[in-house]
Amino acid sequence: MPDLLPLFLTLDGRDVVLVGGGRVATAKLQALLAAGARVRVVAPSVTSDIEQRGVEIVRRGFVPSDLDGAWLVVAAATPAVNRDVAAAAEPRRIFVNAVDDPANASAFLSGIVRREGVTIGISTSGEAPALTALVREALEALLPDDLDRWMAEARRQRTVWRRDRVPMSARKPRLLEALNELYDGATGNKFSSGPIASAAEAIPARPRQPGRIGHVSLVGAGPGDPALLTRKAIARLRAADLVLYDALIDDRMLRYARKAQRFFAGKRAGRSGGQSAPRRIEAMTQRTIHSVMIRAARRGRQVVRLKGGDPFVFGRGGEEMRALLQAGVPFDVVPGVTSAIAAPALAGIPVTYRGVSTAVLVTSGHDAETLASSLCAVKANGVTLVVMMGGTRATAIAESLLDLGWPGETPAAIVVNASASDQQVWRGTLGTLSNEGSWNPAALPGPATIIVGDVVALAAVKNESAEIERRYVTGA
Ligand code: SAH
Repeated sequence: MPDLLPLFLTLDGRDVVLVGGGRVATAKLQALLAAGARVRVVAPSVTSDIEQRGVEIVRRGFVPSDLDGAWLVVAAATPAVNRDVAAAAEPRRIFVNAVDDPANASAFLSGIVRREGVTIGISTSGEAPALTALVREALEALLPDDLDRWMAEARRQRTVWRRDRVPMSARKPRLLEALNELYDGATGNKFSSGPIASAAEAIPARPRQPGRIGHVSLVGAGPGDPALLTRKAIARLRAADLVLYDALIDDRMLRYARKAQRFFAGKRAGRSGGQSAPRRIEAMTQRTIHSVMIRAARRGRQVVRLKGGDPFVFGRGGEEMRALLQAGVPFDVVPGVTSAIAAPALAGIPVTYRGVSTAVLVTSGHDAETLASSLCAVKANGVTLVVMMGGTRATAIAESLLDLGWPGETPAAIVVNASASDQQVWRGTLGTLSNEGSWNPAALPGPATIIVGDVVALAAVKNESAEIERRYVTGA
């Protein structure tokens, strides 16, 4: 049977027929009236409770025309009567909720947990009402007592998201962050086990697993292509209960984490819409990432912190490891294929080559000072230089290198979206790159790695890159 569609109905002022007048019908009547339905009860006899409700009562056996004009019928009678109700409802296209009688039902009332504006429906497709009740109790126990504060904060956040056009993927983690802050201020301690736990720990909805030791894996996901995940990374994802992943993580990788809850934890350059300037959208602060990992592990969960490339290459994996060490949470590191090496490799550029280059410097182009300080120790064109996070600043980076004495004819390449189906490569020299407009990051969007050094000239020039070369280098 296909999945049921969970649905919350507005019954206010709508006609609903309730067939049956016993104890079960009485309970259903209450729920229908609470939803504002205009209920007509059809039954030869009814309980005094039903009588006192002041609803219309038709004291006789059910006839099909009782359903005319109804939006919904609840059959709380004998199986034989329920069957008649179902048969009469079908041609009238009315949904039947047959209590405890799934064979005659097309709609199932769910178990309900309602608290402070939040409604949770629980369904076992009518097959295990007792289990529904147990799950309801479990959820009641799990929900925080102050859900109203969550609700108020969620409403407030929603207005902010709309105003700032926060993308869908960033909303849930942002809300989590905001909820954590509700408690953070109160405890002033980011690793406390105070009420902050109720926000962070409500993420994994599974109950605590006593005796199970939690664990965090800092996993490298490689440059993007899921085929470049390691086998160990896949195994960790399969075993995970909770995955916190960064920007640039492919959905196809997350599919390995079938039983896990997945949260976007990354930071990425976003746009606030239209032509406005790029803006960084922070999904979770680093501090929240630490506290969520630690709390989940302490509750016995298997956490995967999934990062692009290698977790320890410009990925803040080092900080996360130290937070885990400090908290005494068991962890391991699953290295990944770093784009520092893979991006050039996938463009046919060997970062070392006998007689051409025997050393590689991997650095960040994020800001000018960091770049300058990492370069001051190397001879101009003395090593292969790999610059990450420098795509939008490539022209300025080339200028800095020229200023530092790197020859203008030093070959340079920029690999964008390495390993993806739309991988693109710009090729030229430091001289051409420093010319304003020869490299246009907006024309080749995506993560970009810059490679500078004689090894770049060793790459076999493919047709597509030759084209880009023509377009951006010679301006043709
Ligand atoms: N830990 C990552 C690097 C994170 S910093 C790693 O080891 O690969 C992010 C930078 O990585 C980007 O700015 C870009 O320079 C580089 N990068 C990541 N994925 C890339 C890709 N598919 N193609 C080219 N460069 C990539």
